[in-house]
Amino acid sequence: MSRIAYVNGQYVRHPEAAVHVEDRGFQFADGVYEVCEVRQGMIVDLSRHLNRLDRSLRELKMASPMSRAALTLVIREVLRRNRVRNGIFYLQVTRGAARRDHYFPAPDTPPTITITAKSTDPSVAAKKYANGIKVITVPENRWDRVDIKTVGLLPNVLAKQQAKEQGAQDAIFVDRDGIVMEGASSNVWIVTPEAELVTRPAEHGILKGITRTTLMDVAAKLDLKVAEREFKVEEMMAAREVFFTSATGICVPIVEIDGKPVANGHPGTVSASIRDAFFDIAEKTPI
Ligand code: PMP
Repeated sequence: MSRIAYVNGQYVRHPEAAVHVEDRGFQFADGVYEVCEVRQGMIVDLSRHLNRLDRSLRELKMASPMSRAALTLVIREVLRRNRVRNGIFYLQVTRGAARRDHYFPAPDTPPTITITAKSTDPSVAAKKYANGIKVITVPENRWDRVDIKTVGLLPNVLAKQQAKEQGAQDAIFVDRDGIVMEGASSNVWIVTPEAELVTRPAEHGILKGITRTTLMDVAAKLDLKVAEREFKVEEMMAAREVFFTSATGICVPIVEIDGKPVANGHPGTVSASIRDAFFDIAEKTPI
């Protein structure tokens, strides 16, 4: 079966799916995106993802490509046409195609919208959950508006590649005071020796993950205590559990940081119980 992508109003074969050479997403990273999980034929947390998309567009004074109802329809159609039961969709909106110039283009320039979808192999995630992952820490070097989900991800790309070259799978940004910011594509959580779940506040300095928000609903249901506060690398190294949250991995245990074992080098039970309860509590939209 050939993959299908949505590009500016049309469903096209994936190999031929393309945007204009002077698209501002391509030339300036002048675009925003969302990635949303699909599980058992259900879109997970769609409303929260579309709320965040609206916010990202607003923050960048970018036009919305279509109404929420229309967008939901197209997303579901892309998922159906790609026969995704378990996987993700990726949605990107840019400020459109225009002659290269830093100033915003004319207000009637239509935004570019593309949506792709793919199936994922659940055994890959299962392996991560069973074994945990190794990560490295890297100095925070991103701009201070990472709360906006823009496609400008070069520091994240370089951090992940560095992790790979050092035999790890992912990277955590740490600021100059040793405070843990977030992963290259995820939020970071620790479970303290007192069994408290801790993640840093999301007012600025990190992306406010949708999984992070829903995890708080899950924690409330499971009677787990959550604190939003900053924590340093030393506290993370001494934590009972450390894990990442993101739409693509939900809750991934971290067992090694910078070559040193954390959480006794094994995935923990708190992250496992959150993962088990997550899908039940998250919003589910049928395809
Ligand atoms: N931080 C960054 C930098 C990310 O790229 C992501 C994943 N998009 C997250 C956090 C987690 O966000 P979410 O739970 O919405 O996937």
